[in-house]
Order: sequence, then C-alpha cells, then structure tokens
Amino acid sequence: MIIAAPRLPRPSEAALHRVRQTLAARIGPSRILDGDGVSAFGHDESEVAGVLPDFVVLAESEAHVAATLEIAQAEGVPVTPRAGGTGRTGGAIPVGGGVVVATAGLARIKEIDRANMVAVVEPGVVTRAFHDAVEAEGLFYPPDPNSLHNCMLGGNVANNAGGPRALKYGVTGDYVLGLRAVFMGGRTMFVGRRTPKGVTGYDLTSLLVGSEGTLGVLTELTLRLRPKPPVVRTLLGLFDSVHACGAAVTALFHAGHVPRALELMDEGSLEAVRNQGAAVDPRARALLLLELDGHERAVEEAVDHVGNLLHGAAGSLEVLAAQDASQRDRLWDARRALSPATKKLARFKLSEDVVVPRSRIADLLREVDAISEATGVRTLTYGHAGDGNLHVNFLWNDPSERERVDSAILALMRSTVSLGGTLSGEHGIGVTKAAYLPLEHTPELVALQEDLKRTFDPKGLLNPGKIFPSRGHGSC
Ligand SMILES: Cc1cc2nc3c(=O)[nH]c(=O)nc-3n(C[C@H](O)[C@H](O)[C@H](O)COP(=O)(O)OP(=O)(O)OC[C@H]3O[C@@H](n4cnc5c(N)ncnc54)[C@H](O)[C@@H]3O)c2cc1C
Repeated sequence: MIIAAPRLPRPSEAALHRVRQTLAARIGPSRILDGDGVSAFGHDESEVAGVLPDFVVLAESEAHVAATLEIAQAEGVPVTPRAGGTGRTGGAIPVGGGVVVATAGLARIKEIDRANMVAVVEPGVVTRAFHDAVEAEGLFYPPDPNSLHNCMLGGNVANNAGGPRALKYGVTGDYVLGLRAVFMGGRTMFVGRRTPKGVTGYDLTSLLVGSEGTLGVLTELTLRLRPKPPVVRTLLGLFDSVHACGAAVTALFHAGHVPRALELMDEGSLEAVRNQGAAVDPRARALLLLELDGHERAVEEAVDHVGNLLHGAAGSLEVLAAQDASQRDRLWDARRALSPATKKLARFKLSEDVVVPRSRIADLLREVDAISEATGVRTLTYGHAGDGNLHVNFLWNDPSERERVDSAILALMRSTVSLGGTLSGEHGIGVTKAAYLPLEHTPELVALQEDLKRTFDPKGLLNPGKIFPSRGHGSC
C-alpha cells in the first residue's frame, strides 16, 4: 500500500458501541461482522493504505441500509458504502473507521421487462451475471468494465464506470433511468423515472451517478437495455510503434468507423501480455484490439474496410481476425488480465486513467514519453484509445524513486488538463486523485460541490475523506 489515506478523526468507542447495539436489535446480530471478519473491508484494488472499519453491516435489504444510516447519523458515526471492492481509487475504503455497509447481499435481478427494454436490479448484482441474464432474453446491457467478473452494478453506478464498449454505447450513467437511494438519517427515495424520456425537475439521477457513495447509498437501479447486436467481430492490428497506433485511431474515425471497442496497448503492455504466455508477433511494439458489431452484412463490409485501412494507410504490420467466439474470448481475457499482469513488471505500480480529446491522443503519448525521460520513471500505457481514455502506469522498484514518481504523475495531470482533457475517465477521484482536483476544477466549482454534499449529508458522515482535497493540500 503506497498511498496514505487522509487522517480523519475516528468515532468514539461509546458511539460505536451504541450504534452496534441498536443496529443488532433492529436488523439482527448475524448481519453485523466484526473482529477478524472486517479485515477484507479495509482495502480495494487501489494502492491506498486504508483503515479497517469498526464493523461491517451485511445488508440484505433497503431496510437494513436505512436502519444503518439512521442510527449512524444519530451517533455521528461515519458510513462507507461498498459493493465488489474492485475500485481503483480507494472509494470503498473507510478512511475514518466507523461502519462499512456492504451491499453485496442486495443481489436480486427484480425484473427484466423485454417490451420496454428496462431492468430493475439491486446494487449487489455482479456485472457479468447481469450481462448473462439480459443476453438470455435477447437484450444487451453495454457497460463492461474490465473487472466485470467481480464488480457490481451499484459500484458501477456509484463510479459511473466505463469499459471498452463505452466508445460506441456510452458509460454506465447513460443506462441509468432511475434509482432508489438511502440518505444519511435513513430517508429513502426513488429518483428518476422508468421511461426513456423524462425532464421533470432537476436531474438528480445524474447527480447521484458517479457520486462515489458520498451522497446516498443506492439500493435499487432502473436500467435501460438495448437489443443485442446479432453479430460481433474482433480484429487485432499489430504496429511497430504506439505512435502509429495513435495515428490509426484517427484514420479509422476519419473513415467514418465507430467500432464498439478500440483498445490500445504499448510496448510495455505487450511485454506484460507476453510474460503471461501470449504469443504476440515479436515485431509488434504496440497493438490495437478492435471490435465491430451490428447486422451481418454491414459488419462483414466494415471488417473488410477496416482491415484494408489498417494494412494500408495506417501501416499495420499485420491484421488478425478472431475466427470464432473462443478466439475472441481469449483476446479479451488477455486484455482484461492486463492490469494484474503489469503489476508483475515492477515492485511498485501506480495507474492513472486520464482522458484527452481523441485528436490529442498522439500528443498525450508524446507527453508521457517526455515525462518518463525527464523524471527517469518507467511508464507503460494502454486503454480505451477510441474515447481518448488511457491508463498510464508508473512502475518502479526502489522506494527512493517515489518522489520522482509523484512529480511524474503531477506532470501527467497537468499535461492532461492543458490538452483539454480530464483527470479521470472512469475510476473516479476517491482518495487517490483528490489532491489533483483543483488542477481541473476552480475553487468556486469545488465549493459548489461541497455545498451539494452538505445538502445531502450535513454532518459529512457518508464516505468522508473522498473526492474533495483535504484542506491545505489543494495547491499541487
Ligand atoms: C482489473 C480491473 C479492471 C478494471 N477495469 C475497469 C474498466 O474497464 N472501467 C471502469 O470504469 N473501471 C474499471 N475498474 C475499476 C472498478 O472495477 C470500477 O470502478 C467498478 O465500477 C467498481 O465497482 P465495485 O462494485 O467493485 O465497487 P466498489 O469498489 O465496492 O466501490 C466503488 C465506489 O462505489 C461506492 N459504492 C459501492 N456500492 C455503493 C452503493 N450501493 N451505493 C452508493 N455507493 C456505492 C463505494 O463507496 C466506492 O466509492 C477496474 C478495476 C480492476 C481491478
């Protein structure tokens, strides 16, 4: 764990004891986990050194969540919501101790309405399981974070998760029509609608989507579905440099193609993939993984056209097409395993998920090279190139290099903002990026968001220590 969490005052033992006793009487002692059982709730998939919760509520209904937020509010005890724990920014880590409300037990798919292409689900449904259930009905739920075997829909909505298919189909927030949420104090509300259109009142659904568990705890989600595309084809383009990949992305869009996914891997990422046993052509120093979907004839024509374009104008060394579903799955398994695979390349790794306008990808890649050269810190880059969202990873072995790593990350954040980009495309701000928020948001904008936070949570008890920079640390 290499990122310190902000120091927040912990609740008093007496307050914790009262919350525990009252909750046990209301929801049953078996739903409260403490002692050694809480150790799994002090970390997520970030590098944040968390604080263990004092106890965990294993919620199985909205009433359990509401009781927790009512009693915790009365005693001034902080609450941290958690779903699958795959977050990359420390969002589900209870930095001030207190209670973690685990929503994995709210895991029912309540309804799949084929006629209206709407589903109603609980937040603990695992994303991949939801894909399977929806596709069995001939429907399609596009958001596909690469963690989909372990993450949950509540965490996806709270972080407004993206994924490879966001390029053509948009991110999680584009599929949330409405939701039920519990607010500190225990108030429970349905926000939003169930129809594809609707402009009644403020768009509070959008405010809660991506609020990283700081405004309310989600207990039910009403999600928009689409018809399942009948045909999907996957292509792999090998290149002799990552810059050639960047240029190929631009050429594809100029030619009018919108693949459903367009993923980039640079030389370092290929090294990680090769280390996992994948036989990638040794000439390749970068690759594009590309997926097209739609009706058969249109897709076959697009595959031919894209293949020719990559071979020709874009200068690809080789273009390979997956021949069947199992080849396709193997390509995607390699892509989805990339994040853990890159971890094995060095003792320490920090990963950022910046976004720039698509036309500036080549500029960002040049900036990353320059930052790596100036600081001497090894980097590798991969990600959702089609929508300009790149995961830039910083790797090092010796703890004494840490100061240079921090200045390299700060330089990346500055370059991203100056290229017209944004600090996070999908992982959110959480703990790890809070210090950088003022690079992108003016003090007035940060203050407006803090006012909103106070409206929902006047005592600042819901997921404290997240998103907003700690006072005095905002000048980086
Ligand atoms: C290998 C790997 C690949 C990944 N790939 C992607 C990717 O392609 N795209 C992407 O967007 N992300 C990706 N991620 C990051 C992560 O998986 C996503 O952010 C995901 O949406 C988190 O879901 P979770 O269920 O694990 O949430 P958690 O980690 O449990 O929580 C995430 C945030 O949501 C809040 N939260 C959880 N449940 C609730 C609730 N019921 N109500 C309110 N707030 C809640 C938490 O407090 C926290 O702030 C990846 C992570 C890994 C490890």
